[in-house]
Amino acid sequence: MAAPPQACETRTNNTYEKLLGCLTVDGVMEHQEAFQAIADANDGNRAAGTSGYTESVAYVVETLEAAGWNVELDEFDFTYVPPPLLEQLAPIAGVYESAVFTGTGYGDVTANVVPVDIVTALPRDPVTSGCEAADFAGFPVGSIALVQRGTCEFGIKAINAQNAGASAVIIFNQGNTELRSGLVTGTLFGANQQPLAIPVVGASFADGVALSQPGSVAHVVVSSPESRPQVNVIAELPGTNDENVVMAGAHLDSVQAGPGINDNGSGSSALLEIAQQISKLQPENTLRFAWWGAEESGLLGSRAYVDQQVAEGTLDEVALYLNFDMVASPNYIFMVYDGDESGWDAPAGVPIPEGSIQIEDLFESYYTWAGVPYDDAQFSGRSDYQAFILNGVPAGGLFTGAEVVKTAEQAAIWGGTAGAQYDPCYHLACDTIDNLALDALDVNTDAIAAAVLTYAYSTEAVNGVVGKKVPGKLAFPAPAGPEGTVNQPGGGGLSPDHDHEHGDID
Ligand SMILES: [Zn+2]
Repeated sequence: MAAPPQACETRTNNTYEKLLGCLTVDGVMEHQEAFQAIADANDGNRAAGTSGYTESVAYVVETLEAAGWNVELDEFDFTYVPPPLLEQLAPIAGVYESAVFTGTGYGDVTANVVPVDIVTALPRDPVTSGCEAADFAGFPVGSIALVQRGTCEFGIKAINAQNAGASAVIIFNQGNTELRSGLVTGTLFGANQQPLAIPVVGASFADGVALSQPGSVAHVVVSSPESRPQVNVIAELPGTNDENVVMAGAHLDSVQAGPGINDNGSGSSALLEIAQQISKLQPENTLRFAWWGAEESGLLGSRAYVDQQVAEGTLDEVALYLNFDMVASPNYIFMVYDGDESGWDAPAGVPIPEGSIQIEDLFESYYTWAGVPYDDAQFSGRSDYQAFILNGVPAGGLFTGAEVVKTAEQAAIWGGTAGAQYDPCYHLACDTIDNLALDALDVNTDAIAAAVLTYAYSTEAVNGVVGKKVPGKLAFPAPAGPEGTVNQPGGGGLSPDHDHEHGDID
């Protein structure tokens, strides 16, 4: 039910019919194109601490101010960790995926690569590479030590290499099992308690083998972290009742590996388009939208914001918080944060504030009205709603899936590809403008808008504060109930094993 564009530029979208009529995929994609162009111009990403993030902030601010919103930048502390470089210069040339180990030293080293007691022939188990000082007998001082995962802690291998005079250490995966074949990283602390003085980077088994060839020369760079304060974008449309604030948010940062167009350009762009189309509304309750920074670094922006609100005693004014992190996954299913735990128990220690169930109900009512099947996503707290729920603010949100694989049953309900991830480009360089389901983006932009407009008029169902009914005839039916069976925690952004590898010491 698209309305003519001229009408949308002038009229007040104060009904569901009008607001949904002015929201189009083309409108949302304009913002997605802008985010992709920003990533293209800034080393392929929009991660916190980078120019790609700063330009994303500028774009959002400019768009909101042009639409008449009151915009503030909310600064928080952030330590930028530059990505490492692992580059082979001879006998073949290549740049390899790498990661730093916790406790690494820093430096920029170009030197010969010397393998230390590595095992490339199967079964590659056991591997004791670098576990003994004697493994480094005759090691040429100043060379880069190439050691293989196995038997002892990473920190032991690295300290032995440093003591033997290595200028840097590359630790590559063991290669004995599928789980020990990809990029490896972890901590150098354990039996070793001291930070290293030389750079220590991880590599996959295959890249380690490439680096082990005779005549191998590599370039390793690990730069020290630096303080680079970041900002959240906070925008308001003042309501008649400015002590009952309806918040909605999406994280604006990507991971360093890619442009983050589904994660989370999708939530960011949908919210931005809604902000434009709703900007002439005089809401009953104040609308406050947030574009969070540094979600991918551990939910830092939203945590800092909520902490600040708590400290100032103003969090009580926040009636509810709606979170949108990955709403257009290419192999999507539609999911709603499971506030009533009908499909999932929330993880231990994750509270579900009263009122969250009613938010889930509203999204489910919308999907029911739209004739769209939906299912539950665990109320996991694994995105920017975490700080809100930990402080008692009712929350809800939508999610179309990340790294989990779609089942045959789900493919029968939602289409797409069984056996493939909901988002095969999750946290990768291929999370580009082509990594989106436009039909899902269309449905979810409307679902978000319907919730925003509902609560702009009244949050009574959630927190008891009486407001007004949304004008117009449209009303949403009771939820039809979930379909399918999922095993996907809600929220996107942080993968469930986010900290897992970092905790490994061998
Ligand atoms: Zn995300």
